[in-house]
Amino acid sequence: MEGQRKIIHIDMDAFYASVEQRDNPQYRGKPLVVGGRPEKRGAVAAASYEARQFGIHSAMPSRTALQRCPHLIFAVPRFDVYRGISEQIRTIFKSYTDLVEPLALDEAYLDVTHNKKSIGSATAIARDIKQDILNETKLTASAGVSLNKFLAKIASGMNKPDGLTVILPTEAEAFVEVLAIESFYGIGPATAHKMHELGIHTGADLKLRSEIDLEKQFGKTGHFYYQIARGIDERPVNPNRIRKSIGAETSFDPDLEDISRIERELYAIVQVVQQRLERNAAKGRTITLKVKFADYQQITRSRTVLNFIDGESQVSLLAQELLKDVEIEQRKVRLLGITISNLDAETEAPSYKQLVLDLQPFPGSISRSSDIDWV
Ligand SMILES: [Mg+2]
Repeated sequence: MEGQRKIIHIDMDAFYASVEQRDNPQYRGKPLVVGGRPEKRGAVAAASYEARQFGIHSAMPSRTALQRCPHLIFAVPRFDVYRGISEQIRTIFKSYTDLVEPLALDEAYLDVTHNKKSIGSATAIARDIKQDILNETKLTASAGVSLNKFLAKIASGMNKPDGLTVILPTEAEAFVEVLAIESFYGIGPATAHKMHELGIHTGADLKLRSEIDLEKQFGKTGHFYYQIARGIDERPVNPNRIRKSIGAETSFDPDLEDISRIERELYAIVQVVQQRLERNAAKGRTITLKVKFADYQQITRSRTVLNFIDGESQVSLLAQELLKDVEIEQRKVRLLGITISNLDAETEAPSYKQLVLDLQPFPGSISRSSDIDWV
């Protein structure tokens, strides 16, 4: 069709965990996580496919992971190695197109409508890229091919690992109709919950809602939901987008009352934020705490430091200080969020608006905040 784009989303499979298995043959075929030790109240940054079979996933407390799999291997993250591989795969992407938009170290969108190799089939390009990645890094990636970012991203997650999934333009609307609302990229757990309450369970349900209705319920994002329900996503692949902040937030149902529980949940969010900073090779100077109460009153507290906020312990300390500054008293807390902004100018990963609106799992790797529990 005239003017139709060809978009590929590439996502490395269980990236950090796969790298550790590649470099440590004794770890292959075994349940392994990359992340903090359980005795240090660490969290899982990435889980191998073998570990996932035990119900272990990223952002889970390491202690819980160990309970689910007592012989679980814990590998210390080696971010310098992951960053090096990230450079390698970006060089591969750039050999096909300059329109590469990284989402994190291990995933990116590519617009290959007009590509450097004059290959007409985006599916053929995706296959070639997967092969190039395997040849150069000995790691597998999954690819999604479609006419826009929204569909390409969903497609890449459908047949992991080593998947290649194509959603043809003619299939787009029917595909979205049968999609469960919680599987929409950009709809996180809190929004999914709200949609369920409104009787919206699938793309077809979403499509029945008017744009005005969706904007009334979801603000500006309502327009985005209206569009994606029709398989439409006109966002360009933007190689120059600069990320302005990195954050995570969690909604609680039921609301939190106990201050020690609030502190624990805040610490869990800090860990997710720290993992995202690392995953994006980002650092920032401003930290903002958001607290929303049961009556929907919202309070934010910010602090900017002279040097870049460095490491989980500093993020945690600053977050605790900001929390002390909020008069919680007897009030119930509905939502907690932490955002790091004033990022290093070299932070290259672009933002995805939804990430901040409603904490959204990065499929395959980092954070799944709805699952942060301290059971
Ligand atoms: Mg990945």
